[in-house]
Amino acid sequence: MNRVDACPSCGAAVAGGAEGCQRLFDELSVRLTSSGNLPYTVRRLAVDCYCLQHPDSYCVSAKSLAAHLTGLCWAMEFEGGEPGLKALQAWLNGRVPLVKPAIPSSRGLLTVRDVFDEQDSLGLAVARWAHATWAAYADLHPITRRWVMEAARRG
Ligand SMILES: [Zn+2]
Repeated sequence: MNRVDACPSCGAAVAGGAEGCQRLFDELSVRLTSSGNLPYTVRRLAVDCYCLQHPDSYCVSAKSLAAHLTGLCWAMEFEGGEPGLKALQAWLNGRVPLVKPAIPSSRGLLTVRDVFDEQDSLGLAVARWAHATWAAYADLHPITRRWVMEAARRG
């Protein structure tokens, strides 16, 4: 019996709902890691997207939400390189008073399913996923940009 239902968190059509969605992402992570021509930043972007589309599991604290949102913002609106990601991490490891904003109920028109089904260009598929996820979080763009600027000032 091949039951297909939707992940309650991201809406992906996947057998097994939330658990099936996690399995899909775990398999995708293996493909992203073993595909030697993809830089670390692409794998990191995929993690940020998946976590932001599953905030009940991965963005429970304000800090974890800030980590994934600033990572995505850094990729979308700044130069996206690894040194910047390290600066963001260092900022988050410090004592930062963060207030967790409300998370949008709609988390993006593309999901891990769309990336998983891509056979040719995983890098492009992850980039499309990132744009869709970032667009879904539009209400949180201003606060995310403030966090990135604060990290940049301290770094
Ligand atoms: Zn899901």
